Amino acid sequence: MPEQLRNYINGRWEYSSANEYLPVINPATVQTMAEVPLSPGKEVDAAVEVGQTAFTDWRRTPPTERAQYLFRLKTLLDAHKLELARLITNECGKTLAESIGELQRGIENVETACGIPTLMQGYNNEDIARGIDEHMLRQPLGVVAGVTPFNFPGMIPLWFLPYAVATGNCFLLKPSEKTPMTMQRMFDLIDEAGFPSGVVQLVNGSKETVDAILDHPKVRAVSFVGSTAVARYIYGRAAANGKRAQCQGGAKNPVVVMPDADLEMTTRIMADSAFGCAGQRCLAASVAVTVSTVGDAFVESLAEAAASRKVGYGLDDGVQMGPVISRQSKERIERLIGVGQEEGATLVVDGRGRRVEGYEDGTFVFPTVLDHVPPHGEIAQTEIFGPVLSVMRTDTLEQAIELVNDRSYGNMACIFTNDGASARQFRYEVNAGNIGINIGVAAPMAFFPFSGWNDSFFGDLHGQGRHGVEFYTQTKIVIERWYQTWSRQF
Ligand code: NAD
Repeated sequence: MPEQLRNYINGRWEYSSANEYLPVINPATVQTMAEVPLSPGKEVDAAVEVGQTAFTDWRRTPPTERAQYLFRLKTLLDAHKLELARLITNECGKTLAESIGELQRGIENVETACGIPTLMQGYNNEDIARGIDEHMLRQPLGVVAGVTPFNFPGMIPLWFLPYAVATGNCFLLKPSEKTPMTMQRMFDLIDEAGFPSGVVQLVNGSKETVDAILDHPKVRAVSFVGSTAVARYIYGRAAANGKRAQCQGGAKNPVVVMPDADLEMTTRIMADSAFGCAGQRCLAASVAVTVSTVGDAFVESLAEAAASRKVGYGLDDGVQMGPVISRQSKERIERLIGVGQEEGATLVVDGRGRRVEGYEDGTFVFPTVLDHVPPHGEIAQTEIFGPVLSVMRTDTLEQAIELVNDRSYGNMACIFTNDGASARQFRYEVNAGNIGINIGVAAPMAFFPFSGWNDSFFGDLHGQGRHGVEFYTQTKIVIERWYQTWSRQF
């Protein structure tokens, strides 16, 4: 029998009373590794009540003391990095090196949040009028929640959790039901770090569980990462219920390749961006827009890189790309490649229908390159979320920027060039929130906001860094005047 995953409520592991469980499947071996409960709303309600009670003491705990729990967590995460990385690879499919990299980026958020005594400072002025002073203080909100996607099960919860608790809130996590095992283990480490009961909690589940979070009056803020349709829904429902919300959505990231770019470096970085994590990164390059004469040479060298990428089980040596998350996902991606062909694109490298020896049932899609993709078709606009790169050709940088801006998402846009003026024009004019210049995955470090725009983000304050601190705190203004007549008598 596969292990039944539990919820972590009030400092204890508890089995859910759920009627329904879903299998957690290793996408390479298709083995069922565990079963995840679809927890009913009442289990969210219980956790929120516990969090609200814990909040009374936690918000009074000095930030320097709160940071000590995060220092301990960082040490534990470092010590267990390999074990956690293996879990990520097994439930999510990416290679071990990718899983280690993911955890590293997550841990950097814990490190950043350790600076909370400084990050949380307010500001003040003496004598806004004679003898009157004004202060701005930051106070925590109460119980806040995070709802996260399957593709970075170790990192994305850490975009939120460290800042939420460092600022004095109690945090409730609902991880992806497709990849819940990494957090199951990480919460053991959270437990070991010694956070007081109720400060950090975990409830597994899916839509019903999330809706209970969105509707609970004591949940003050919701942080979400996932597809655009769900991000839009969560933003609307959370806002209608008077909550703060920051909702990061899907993406379709364009990358412009200029004729003066270093072709060898560009190909290597682009192949990593488009096919790394099997294309299941919200910052994956999915459209390459070539300018002028570079098109043929770029497609040729990228096709070579795509065809030679070693695909397999992420724990095996030398594997450069793992499977996609599920059978449904594989079928959807392969269907979309077909749509691209029907729309007139040239299929340069076809990753459909391929098998990996020893893992014949694994949900692998091999790297795929489509050339001459029509800019307004389905394939050009739809987030494929698989290892598929669509190439479009243009004559000028201006045309390329127009193509880049002609899309509803705005998570990332990149340019490869050796010309400073082209790079500047690109970063100035492009309608996206994370920009890469000779960078293939422009993922902001923990101390910068993860700045998606347009349909890639609903809200105003993004995840990570100072934005995270602002999101999880409310400002209080104090204006004070003291009369001195009484004290002078002593
Ligand atoms: P998803 O939207 O299917 O699920 C995300 C979370 O929402 C899960 O926890 C899931 O249980 C919950 N959920 C799903 N449907 C729901 C519903 N109807 N009501 C309430 N909750 C619901 O996303 P996914 O497939 O897990 O992740 C892939 C998506 O996430 C891609 O679109 C990718 O671009 C996006 N993503 C975005 C970023 C970013 O920073 N913008 C980062 C990573 C992933």
